[in-house]
Amino acid sequence: MVLESYNVDLRLARMPDPEPGPGDVVLKVRACGMCQTDIKLVSGQLGPGIRLPHVPGHEVAGEVAALGKDVRGLKLGDKGVAFHIIPCGTCELCLTGRENLCTSIRRIGFELSGGFAEYLVMPAANFCAFESDIAFERMAILPDAVATPYHALGRLARLGMANSVLIIGLGGLGIHAVQLALGMGALVIAADVNEKAMELARSFGAGYTTNPLKEDSAAKLRDLTNGRGVDLIIDGVGRKESVDWSLGCLKKGGHYYSLGYDPVNPVCFKMLDVHNNEWSIHGVKATTRQELREVVSLVERGLVKPYVSKTLPLEGANEGLAAIKKGETLGRTVLMMD
Ligand SMILES: [Zn+2]
Ligand SMILES: [Zn+2]
Repeated sequence: MVLESYNVDLRLARMPDPEPGPGDVVLKVRACGMCQTDIKLVSGQLGPGIRLPHVPGHEVAGEVAALGKDVRGLKLGDKGVAFHIIPCGTCELCLTGRENLCTSIRRIGFELSGGFAEYLVMPAANFCAFESDIAFERMAILPDAVATPYHALGRLARLGMANSVLIIGLGGLGIHAVQLALGMGALVIAADVNEKAMELARSFGAGYTTNPLKEDSAAKLRDLTNGRGVDLIIDGVGRKESVDWSLGCLKKGGHYYSLGYDPVNPVCFKMLDVHNNEWSIHGVKATTRQELREVVSLVERGLVKPYVSKTLPLEGANEGLAAIKKGETLGRTVLMMD
C-alpha cells in the first residue's frame, strides 16, 4: 500500500519483490501494526525525511523468506519482528547505547520502505527472532506499542515499586504502559477521554482511572497521593490538552515523559512552575534493539499481553487509518498479509 501524495488514500500497487543485499534478510511480512504516527506520516507532518512514493509501516512481524550473503544464524522460515531503527553504529549516540537517537538514523516505514507490503528487506541484525506460537498480529506491535513504553518506564524513568505513575492516553502505547507499570509494582492511574479505553485499562489491572473532561483529574490525583502529586507522568498524547491539566498533579521534583506528540502545534510550559517544582521534562523516542529483545521475552513469558482489537487485510489500510484518526481504535489495528 503506497503513499503517493499526502492526504490522499494509499494505493494498492504491484512492486518487484525485494532482493537481499549482503547482510540482509527479506521478510515475508505476516502482520504490520498501524500507529498514530502513521496518521502524522500520511498527512505530511513528519518533515523532509519521508520521500514519496512511500510504503509506511513500522511494526512488522514475519518470516525469513530470503537470506543475503554472509548472514549467519538465521534460516528460511524463522519467525521474528523487525527492529525498525537502522542505526549507523559508529556515532557517539550509537556507541553510548542510544542508537534510537543515532545522528544518521534510518527507519523502516519512515526513511525506508515499510511493512504495509508483502515483503520487506532489512539488515539481518534488525531481525529479532521469537520462538513462541503467539499470533503474528500480536507480536507485530512489539517494536513500538510495547517497546516504546518499556524504554520510557524501564530505562528512562527507572520506575520503582513505590512510585505512582499517571498514564495519559490509553491507546496502542498507553495500554501497554499500564501493563508494564503494574508489572513494575507502581501505583497506576490511567487517564483518557474515551470510556471504553478506560474500561480496557481497568481490565488490565489499572486501579484508578480518570476522565479529565468529566472531573477535576488533577485534584483527584493529588487526593490519591496524599496531596503530594504523582511521581511521574507518561503522556501518550503530548498535546496542550494533556499537558495543561496533568502538570497540576505532578509532584515537586517529578518527571514528565512525552511518548505522544503534536507534530505541529507547540505546547507551553509555565517556566515559573517548572522552576519552583524542579520538574524534569523528557522526550521519548522509540526504543533500542536490546529493549525490544527484552520485550519479546516479557511477552513470551506472558507478563505483557499485546492488545490488538482489530485485524484487516492489507488493502484495508485506508479503513484502518481512518478509524485511528477518528479515535475509534482500541489498542492496535493490525494489517494481515495472507
Ligand atoms: Zn508508531
Ligand atoms: Zn549512529
